[in-house]
This record gives sequence, C-alpha cells and structure tokens, in this order.
Amino acid sequence: MSEIKTIDVIVIGAGAVGENVAGRVVQKGLSAVIVEADLVGGECSYWACMPSKALLRPGTALRAARDVGGAREAVTGSLDVQQVLDRRTSFTSDWDDSSQADWVESAGITLERGRATLSGEREVTITHDDGGTSRYRAGRAVVRAPGPPPPLPPIDGLADLDYWTTRDATSAKEGPPSLAVLGAGVAGAGLAQA
Ligand SMILES: Cc1cc2nc3c(=O)[nH]c(=O)nc-3n(C[C@H](O)[C@H](O)[C@H](O)COP(=O)(O)OP(=O)(O)OC[C@H]3O[C@@H](n4cnc5c(N)ncnc54)[C@H](O)[C@@H]3O)c2cc1C
Repeated sequence: MSEIKTIDVIVIGAGAVGENVAGRVVQKGLSAVIVEADLVGGECSYWACMPSKALLRPGTALRAARDVGGAREAVTGSLDVQQVLDRRTSFTSDWDDSSQADWVESAGITLERGRATLSGEREVTITHDDGGTSRYRAGRAVVRAPGPPPPLPPIDGLADLDYWTTRDATSAKEGPPSLAVLGAGVAGAGLAQA
C-alpha cells in the first residue's frame, strides 16, 4: 500500500471547473493537488468549446464574405476541408496538454495524472497508467469536478451502431459524407452547422 500524502484540498478532474477551483485554493494560501485521468484542460479545450468554435469559424467567414458585394466576387471556391481540420487541430495543440500542465504547476498546484477514486473519508486513491497507485488525504476538502457523463439518448439499437459522440465529431480527421445529429442544443446545432 502506497504512503499517504496530506494536502489541504484534492480536486478530481482538471477541466475548466477543477482548474478554477484549484487555482482559487492556492491563491488563498492553501495547498492543492489536481488529479486528471486524461488531458489537463478537459473537454472544453480539446473536444468541446475550442475545437467546435474553430470548426465553425471558416464557414461563418465564408458566408459573411459571400453576403457582401465586392467581397463576394473574390470568393471563387469552397471551403478547404483539410485546412479547416488542420486549423481546428492547431486550436487543440494537436491534443497535447503540456502548456496547460505547465500552467497548473506554475500556479503552485500539484498535478497527478491518473484516475481518482474516493477510498475513505477525505481520502483519494489515484491509479496511474502504469498500474501504480498514490494516496492523498485532504485536510480541508475533496472536490469532485469530473464533468458530465457523455449522453447517450435511449434509442433502441443506437448502442449497436458506430455512432459519434461530440468528442468524435470535434476530433474528426475527415468530414463525413453526411451526418444525422441527435439533439438540437448548442453542441448539436453547432456541429450541424459546421
Ligand atoms: C461540442 C461542445 C461545445 C461546447 N462549447 C462550449 C462553449 O463554446 N462555451 C462554453 O462555455 N461551454 C461549452 N461547452 C460545454 C463545456 O465543454 C463544459 O461545460 C465544460 O467542459 C465543463 O467543464 P468541467 O470542468 O465541469 O468538465 P470537463 O471539461 O469534462 O472536465 C472534467 C475532467 O475530469 C476528468 N476526470 C473525470 N473523472 C475523473 C477521475 N475519476 N479521475 C481523474 N480525472 C477525472 C476528465 O478526464 C476531464 O478532463 C461545449 C460542450 C460541447 C460538448
């Protein structure tokens, strides 16, 4: 059993919420560890806000130019899909989170990579990719910021299909020939437009 480390606050999940919580904790003079199982920055940076807006922008710019006489005449082609996807990839730093990990550490937050589970009162066990474990006990609090579970609508047969989640859509390597979007919220409407 690994030795238990003590710290003021343990934050599970380094998405927008977890990063903000940990940042506030250290700004107030307490110590914090943030545990992330995937990429530091979470969905927003790598599979949601950033790539989805990057995918929307070229089409919006093209439409705007086509709406303006004088500019319209200069638009002689259509979107270059590969360039659109390459630009999206640059917005996600090619799914490399090193700059956000650097920010976490420069802010004075301890970063632990691995999957956290609650293993006791204010106690968290982290399982790392290599199978090793670390344990922390929080003097003040454990904050759970794991984000929402990916929604899968209750539709018969859907689970048997090769469907995309928003993650697959925003990280696609090529445009699909056609796409049926389930859900007309902000994410669904944005992906359909892109
Ligand atoms: C397509 C799309 C577009 C969007 N666009 C916008 C937008 O333009 N503006 C906006 O404000 N919002 C947008 N959103 C919503 C936004 O992405 C979420 O509100 C935001 O990501 C939630 O942040 P979070 O920190 O709660 O969760 P997440 O970003 O999901 O972060 C949670 C983190 O916790 C980690 N984690 C989970 N369980 C564990 C565990 N047990 N151990 C360790 N780590 C764990 C996960 O790996 C993840 O990195 C969009 C969403 C989608 C799907």
